[in-house]
Amino acid sequence: MDFDIRKDFPLLEKYPQLIYLDSACTSLKPRQVIDAQISYYTELGACGGRSSHFLGRKTSEKIEESREKILEFLGAKGQELIFAKNTTEGLNIVINGLDYSKRNKIVTTVIEHHAILLPLMKLRDDGKIKLEILMCDNEGKVSLEQWKNAIDKQTALVITNSANNTTGFNQNTKQITKIAHDNGALICVDGAQGVAHHKTEFSKDNYDFLCFSGHKMLGPNGIGGLVCKKENLQKLKPFVLGGGTVKTVTLDKVEYLTNHEKFEAGVQNYPGIIGLTSACEYLKKLKMENVEKYERELAKEMLDVLEQNDAIIYGSKTLENHSALFSFGIKGARAHDVALMLDQQNIAVRSGFFCAQPAMEAIGAKDGAVRASCYIYNTKEEIRKFSQALTKLKALY
Ligand code: PLP
Repeated sequence: MDFDIRKDFPLLEKYPQLIYLDSACTSLKPRQVIDAQISYYTELGACGGRSSHFLGRKTSEKIEESREKILEFLGAKGQELIFAKNTTEGLNIVINGLDYSKRNKIVTTVIEHHAILLPLMKLRDDGKIKLEILMCDNEGKVSLEQWKNAIDKQTALVITNSANNTTGFNQNTKQITKIAHDNGALICVDGAQGVAHHKTEFSKDNYDFLCFSGHKMLGPNGIGGLVCKKENLQKLKPFVLGGGTVKTVTLDKVEYLTNHEKFEAGVQNYPGIIGLTSACEYLKKLKMENVEKYERELAKEMLDVLEQNDAIIYGSKTLENHSALFSFGIKGARAHDVALMLDQQNIAVRSGFFCAQPAMEAIGAKDGAVRASCYIYNTKEEIRKFSQALTKLKALY
């Protein structure tokens, strides 16, 4: 990776000592993305899809142009993109929007984020679906055999992550998609951790739905989306209704719009959308293949460092299909204490359950863990400093 990119990140300039290893929670934002958001306020400033004055028209054009660019970045040209706050909102639109009257089973795994598990458990507890939650092995892996055994002709939806936020393992969502489709089920991929780090091929991999968050991929907070195969849009019912979603309304009858607009009720996050587009353009320029390659190198350094420091690694200890994200513990130390001690040395990591408590329990981290997650602006030198900090810290226990 070209380390000139570090100069693009104002927070790295403001805090030159900072070693930011919390990108799985949220990534840093480059100046280009921040400037793109500001450009909405300085150049457009109006509502999209409503006002016919020139600023309104320019805003609408910019947003539709952005939608096309984001779809292209995700390998989803010609499909639908519904803007949403984040992955969580996208997942809720899919989970609550499908019809379960003919097929009522949903298959997922224990190793998912609460953004999947909680809405599914609510539907199950309300008696609306049958939920099958696949267990993982102690490395957090679910085999293709398990998926094959669970997905059947009663399955309406299969839902799982492409890259895991607790173990750093990247699942074979392409194969899982095939199993789902062989049984006539739909698949929704939680791309919160995957889209930022790997080339996404929505159409080639034949996904039905894909949810993602801008803030984890160099983009702004409060914007993300749900990519939906065109033919699937009519299978979803919107659950937030309001302005911008309808053709006509009388007090007796509503006629809804039939495209993504039906799901984008109210005035949208225009600066966020423009910033997200800029993040996609930034990553496109770097090339996702280069991002992946560089992160594989960081993952190797990180694994070596954790092993050298006798850390308890939760999840796989090999690099196959592993992101540069590791959850770990230091024997005898509480996860939060480790995080606070690292913070005193300017190293930002996350500690706790990472909004995936059942997953953490399943991989043997029932009291939580520390998570170090890298992105394109991290360097091997930073990982060496992280190693020195761990060595010092370990000596205290
Ligand atoms: N899914 C996974 C795998 C995640 O890691 C996260 C957030 O960390 C989410 C979903 C939810 O993302 P957001 O909080 O941006 O909605």
